[in-house]
Amino acid sequence: MPVKYPSMADRIIANSVLLDGIGITQNGEWSPCWIWIAKRQMNKRGNWYGLITVRYKSGKRKGKVHNVFVHRMVLMVFKNRRMTPRMVGCHLCNESLCCNPAHIVGGSQKKNMRQCVNDGRLKTPFVKGNQYGAKKKGAKDSSTASGGYPQNLLVREDRPTDLGET
Ligand SMILES: [Zn+2]
Repeated sequence: MPVKYPSMADRIIANSVLLDGIGITQNGEWSPCWIWIAKRQMNKRGNWYGLITVRYKSGKRKGKVHNVFVHRMVLMVFKNRRMTPRMVGCHLCNESLCCNPAHIVGGSQKKNMRQCVNDGRLKTPFVKGNQYGAKKKGAKDSSTASGGYPQNLLVREDRPTDLGET
């Protein structure tokens, strides 16, 4: 039987650990990452994201289980954010498995992209061609493997299309 937690916040805390040296400094103070240790899934870029299984509480799929990304759940639970499918959760700490609410900010994809650029995390080495498909002189045609455009261009994280009411 799955363990019953008093609340979703308790469940997230119970399934994450603090690791020595993993964290960020916020307002001059050390703030450790809460690293998710339960179910996880790797996205196309090789980053692991925590998953949490929840049941729909209402609607057509009431009672059915589905997976939600933990960092999105953190925003819903700890910051009371209503996460529409267009909303993304951005890790300030760059630890994709982190679920410390202080390290995750919600916003539009545009805002998330800007944050990534500002942090220098967006890596777009367009050595084989730019986003319009134009190739540099002498570059071999290897862009077709990623569907015609560089995979690094896809910074959007994978996320469930339907979060339902949780
Ligand atoms: Zn963190």
